[in-house]
Amino acid sequence: MHRLAIHIRELGDQLALCKRCGMCHAVCPVFAETGREADVARGKLALLDGLVDEMFTNPGGVFERLNRCLLCGSCAAICPRGVNVLEIFIKARIILVDFMGLSWRKKIILRGMLARPGSFDRKIRWMAAAQKIFNKPAEEHSGTSCARYFSPLLRSRHFVPLASAPFHSIQSSLNSPAGSSGIRAAFFTGCLIDKIFPNIARATVDSLKYHEVGIFLPESQGCCGMPAIAAGDMKTFIQLVRYNIEQFSEQDFDYLLTACATCTFAIKRIWPMMFPEDSDIKTKIDSIAEKTMDINQFLVSKTGVKPSVSQSNDAVSVTYHDPCHLKKSLGISDEPRIMIQANPDYSFKEMLEPDRCCGLGGSFNLQYYEISAKIGQRKIENIKVSEASVVTSGCPACMLQLSTMLSQAGSGVVVKHPVEIYAESITKWCNKPEGL
Ligand code: SF4
Ligand code: SF4
Repeated sequence: MHRLAIHIRELGDQLALCKRCGMCHAVCPVFAETGREADVARGKLALLDGLVDEMFTNPGGVFERLNRCLLCGSCAAICPRGVNVLEIFIKARIILVDFMGLSWRKKIILRGMLARPGSFDRKIRWMAAAQKIFNKPAEEHSGTSCARYFSPLLRSRHFVPLASAPFHSIQSSLNSPAGSSGIRAAFFTGCLIDKIFPNIARATVDSLKYHEVGIFLPESQGCCGMPAIAAGDMKTFIQLVRYNIEQFSEQDFDYLLTACATCTFAIKRIWPMMFPEDSDIKTKIDSIAEKTMDINQFLVSKTGVKPSVSQSNDAVSVTYHDPCHLKKSLGISDEPRIMIQANPDYSFKEMLEPDRCCGLGGSFNLQYYEISAKIGQRKIENIKVSEASVVTSGCPACMLQLSTMLSQAGSGVVVKHPVEIYAESITKWCNKPEGL
């Protein structure tokens, strides 16, 4: 308990910044649904202020209240005092897990699977092969599934199935020199893109090749560590960061690119935040974080992608959902829209509240499904009002939430990533699909 008290005191300076003004109430998606002070940043920060005392009597209760948060960063983005809410919440979860231990479920998923990239890949391949036994295509929307047998855990949920072939099995590695662009980029695929949305990885590689950017794709990569650190599991997080640093840091490249908003945010902001100055890999972490860039931002700012000057007569209407980790945490919102508008076969339509959280929040969706679904419902209504036939997002996690919620609503709106829309136009311009 002594060590715990020391760690909590370390958060004290940051907690003192919060003046309880309550501005975060207006933007917190969880508070909007529950109306509970304990669910908004101000309530949680007040709770942490008294954490040492409460820890003795009710550590599980404190952890539970801290977990009722999407880590969306909406509160941090609006906070006039610059309170680093996400850093406080993540560190507080680590402190509590350090004290209480990890639940057995999270141990199996995080330490038994995610922490071992090779074995994780094998297990996911088995699951992909076996999923048809347990899933059946959802009637409401092609491309999504629902459980074949009733399960209290899954109930009436829809979900996006695992890809039959993950991206790394189609493209095991790449190591090409910089072409006429003079740029060489490493590609961090990310778990969701590799295992559920390999088309996004294919579109990313096609786009980079089109712009003659040299690509480094290592044979193996691990998860960015975000699910582990969000669960307070520092041990798995450190293991994954070290694994990834080993795969990437020996190579020479100008940028490390990802098409996943959460991976970009994790590598750019969370990795440097969690490793102290005296860590043996701190220099490597800072260097990789500095080079890390979202694929939309890279293609627009470094290769000159621009909106198309013309538009097809039968252009398909498309809208865009801003992932919280891309817009609120990294300030990237124009570039994905430019990528979409670069394809003349689409006409862009802004939806209402495009940057309002979709409600997924990683494991929040599993733990607090009812709240997650309510938050997502508002997004689905906004998509419907836009009358777009396609909705895009720069985060595969948001794409999961949008796909499953649209499917449940019986909507035919298709979900894509902006780089997929852009790559479609490249294929057309080249008049020859470039296979991998
Ligand atoms: S907006 Fe910032 S200062 Fe105001 S209550 Fe929320 S966290 Fe505290
Ligand atoms: S991070 Fe998001 S969900 Fe969590 S308290 Fe802040 S606004 Fe609410």
